[in-house]
Amino acid sequence: MMDTFNVYPVYDINPVKGLKSDIWDDNGTKYLDLYGGHAVISIGHSHPKYVKAISEQVGTLGFYSNSVQIPLQKKLAAKLGEMTGLQDYHLFLANSGAEANENALKLASFHNGRKKIISFKKGFHGRTSAAVAVTDNQKIKAPINFDEHVEILEFNNVEAVKAAIDNETCAVIVEGIQGIGGIHVSTDAFMTTIREKCDETGAVFIHDSVQCGYGRSGRFFSYEYSGVKPDIISMAKGMGNGFPIGGILISPKFEAKYGMLGTTFGGNHLSCAAALAVLEAIDEEGLIDNAASLGEYTINELQKIEGIKEVRGKGLMIGIELEEPVKPIREALLFKDHIFTGVAGAHIIRLLPNLAVAKEEIDRFLVAFKKRLEELK
Ligand code: PLP
Repeated sequence: MMDTFNVYPVYDINPVKGLKSDIWDDNGTKYLDLYGGHAVISIGHSHPKYVKAISEQVGTLGFYSNSVQIPLQKKLAAKLGEMTGLQDYHLFLANSGAEANENALKLASFHNGRKKIISFKKGFHGRTSAAVAVTDNQKIKAPINFDEHVEILEFNNVEAVKAAIDNETCAVIVEGIQGIGGIHVSTDAFMTTIREKCDETGAVFIHDSVQCGYGRSGRFFSYEYSGVKPDIISMAKGMGNGFPIGGILISPKFEAKYGMLGTTFGGNHLSCAAALAVLEAIDEEGLIDNAASLGEYTINELQKIEGIKEVRGKGLMIGIELEEPVKPIREALLFKDHIFTGVAGAHIIRLLPNLAVAKEEIDRFLVAFKKRLEELK
């Protein structure tokens, strides 16, 4: 019998339904979900507006045409422009974060005709062949060097950025807050130096907002904290609350030419309906403000707990680093307290709750986490 290619480690828990921040397994046990499928669940599980929008759009299946997709894509672009303030940017839609970044790099190289890409240690930009599997996590680096045009610098190192970005640099790709690499937040000086050097040399500034974007940081995009404006912004994950969609926002300095970028399924009508419902829910329910205030609260409360090496993050993208491996705490939280969390490496717990998470849910986590940490010590 054919089986799936076994590359994903999973716990022996079988979730069968979800609502808001909760999920239930096939034994009826309820769990608090503070990870949301790697930052995918932005507005909460089974949000009624979202379910309705997709269900209604499913009704048009059987008829697959640009005439259905294009008006939805335009509506999505308009709403994104309104919510991000990037009214003069353009939207190109894809299906995932990796694809979004591939298109960003392709566009950059069309723009300036150059090859050299700059990225950063502990950065992650998806399983892309176009030189962006740039992490120091060897497990996801293939032996074939797809990255021959990539120069990898220290994150947050202003001097390294000043020295490396030159007239041969095609693009700089950076996460405003590194996700899989351990929740490292970019400094303002780092971001503004990237912007300045790109302006000086004609290199393209690509901000990978796949994980830190879409309100998660407490701003629509995390680069807003530094007051810079990237040339291309890639997005995915929270954009569809579980429905596959990705895309890039493209500065007006890039001129679109027919055939330059393209995809069969990017911007399909179901993904657009999902993404529009997500934006409307974020807007109507004030979820970015909730992410900002509850994120600040969570980080402050965590900082009061003794025995943590460091708490990092912005909004609802939080890393808790311990001296010890976090596996026992994470498993106690899951199997005894019924709380799902994530990790970034062996020593960091990664919290990526939905943006509508309630204070009581965060408090429940804080009490449980404190108890499990005390047990570990
Ligand atoms: N960029 C960042 C910052 C990510 O965290 C990820 C996924 O974890 C990706 C890109 C790749 O996205 P996808 O898995 O949708 O290809």
